[in-house]
Amino acid sequence: MAEQLAEIDAIAANPAPPDFGNTIAALDRAGRTLNRVSTIYGIYSSSLSTPEFQAVEREMAPKLAAHRDLIVQNAALFQRIEAVYESPAKASLTPEQQRLTWHRYTTFVLAGAKLDETAKKEVAAINQRLAALFTAFGQNILADEDHRLLVIGDAAGLAGLPESFIAGAAAAAAERGHAGKWVVLNTRSSVEPFLTYSSRRDLREQVWQTFVNRGDEGDAHDNNAIITEILALRARRAKLLGYPTHAHWRLQNTMAKTPGRAMELMEAVWAPAVARVHEEVADMQSIADAEGAGIRIEPWDYRYYAEKVRKARFDIDENAVKPYLQIDKLREGMFWTADRLFGLRFTELAPGTVPVYHPDVRVWEVKDPAGRHVGLFYLDPFARMGKRSGAWMNAYRPQERFDGEIPPIVSNNSNFVEGAPGEPILVGWDDAKTLFHEFGHALQGLLSNVSYPSLAGTAVVRDYVELPSQLTEHWLSTREVLDLFAIHYRTGEPMPEALAARLRETETFNQGFATVEYLSAALVDMKLHLAGETPVEPDAFERTTLAALGMPAEIVMRHRTPQFMHIFSSDAYSAGYYSYLWSDKLVADTWAAFMEAGGPWDAAVARRLREKVLSAGNTVDPDEGYRAFRGRDASVEPLLRQRGFPVPAANPATARR
Ligand SMILES: [Zn+2]
Repeated sequence: MAEQLAEIDAIAANPAPPDFGNTIAALDRAGRTLNRVSTIYGIYSSSLSTPEFQAVEREMAPKLAAHRDLIVQNAALFQRIEAVYESPAKASLTPEQQRLTWHRYTTFVLAGAKLDETAKKEVAAINQRLAALFTAFGQNILADEDHRLLVIGDAAGLAGLPESFIAGAAAAAAERGHAGKWVVLNTRSSVEPFLTYSSRRDLREQVWQTFVNRGDEGDAHDNNAIITEILALRARRAKLLGYPTHAHWRLQNTMAKTPGRAMELMEAVWAPAVARVHEEVADMQSIADAEGAGIRIEPWDYRYYAEKVRKARFDIDENAVKPYLQIDKLREGMFWTADRLFGLRFTELAPGTVPVYHPDVRVWEVKDPAGRHVGLFYLDPFARMGKRSGAWMNAYRPQERFDGEIPPIVSNNSNFVEGAPGEPILVGWDDAKTLFHEFGHALQGLLSNVSYPSLAGTAVVRDYVELPSQLTEHWLSTREVLDLFAIHYRTGEPMPEALAARLRETETFNQGFATVEYLSAALVDMKLHLAGETPVEPDAFERTTLAALGMPAEIVMRHRTPQFMHIFSSDAYSAGYYSYLWSDKLVADTWAAFMEAGGPWDAAVARRLREKVLSAGNTVDPDEGYRAFRGRDASVEPLLRQRGFPVPAANPATARR
């Protein structure tokens, strides 16, 4: 940190008149040691967390926030950035250099570079307090996930569960000092299969309650007071920065640009999704009635009865699909897809060739067809204590070339349950999609072809960054990938076409649930951050907002407010959870481009996608980048069609332009 501040001071105090090289490029050269240390710090935080490291985080988070403010609030530095930004000489820079200049200037202004000294002090104090609150929020969730578990002591509690789940639950119990019993972990990857298969309704309710009440238990790890304070601080900061609300401030530098445009898209999808949920619930209720269950469908029944409807309607059963989905084969399928579309070749490095932080981590070298080095791909697939739940991609080192070529290093991380030695690890269809999703983020990191690291790879705006990832999920269900890589772990046979076809048919199945579960969270996020300086009591706000939206009683938000890590463990996705839907509109439209050209492997579309989107990073405005790829803006119709919702005859959103 001291080294970076010394470098920043040297740039700010440079006696030479400000120009691109001595100011804007120099900033991309500063802080290299801190960047490297931050990568390691991030790995400890997300993948190797211990009580000792959590104490380090509590100490360092406010200090790091203060450090960032020292840079963006440096008046002499900002004067130089502004001078380059406003200089007529800017017109003779390359387009990427102009974009970087704009990016630097905009980032500084949005962070408060133009404020007076008093306001700057207040913003810096708010940022330090927020950093402490974000850390506390995340650590509270980790505590509830690590310690609030369902221990099953009697085999009757296992009714309906698949063998593989029971084996995992037994291993998890042994690891936690309950040998001979079974433990259902309080994480999504354990809770969702339990809710899908357990025929013990009482236990389903218990597991569901524990999961949706993470951070909301009224104990030492309760997040409600933290949320109220975060929202108040964000509202105050937005006011200081000259915006009506935090949402208005956050959406400045996005594709949507205003909360209104993000709300417009969400509302266009909300009504058809809710209508579909009522149909789905009716289907489930009639199965429950036919069984004589004597129940009304509750949230802890949804996944269980949806699975029964799926079996009845499509004659398909998740347990018939799983034997074809081996994690090692799927990984080969991802690599094959990357080669066929973009000419990327993956070769595993022998252990010890490059450093790794845990023995589970494996590394591949990526080369182009001419054998030139492209980058490194790290994979950390398994769950363990101290690793946060879910799946994510990290750019350990972004690509750049302005001071000589530096190739990218990227990683994919997930929480699969490790199998017995020598046994293949089988995953469900959703998990297989998640593998491809994160790999899509990795591809954007690997294909990056820019000069300056600040604009490289996944350093694009939030509502554009999920395009490569959500798009890559589509290649999993192609005939080619399933034939070659969805191989039965015992017989070695590829997935039968009939089963694959049924799987494709089920793509629109249960989309009411998936869309409402997601969208309710996205809408609550936006409304929380549009509330301005009105103090927010999270429980009441969530309840009244959902009631006003007409939230179906059978569904709960994908992330309830007290556990909404996306929006309360940092600013990153705050007023930004809508981004997945925004990106998905682009994804559906991009996939339509492949289909119009003849299929998922069309070389010309793949080349355009690579050039205009994947390799471009943040060197172009995303609207322009997408238009250069597609020849026009994305429309919402392919998105509605992809989810199986009715497409309005004339969409007002597109009719206006
Ligand atoms: Zn993603």
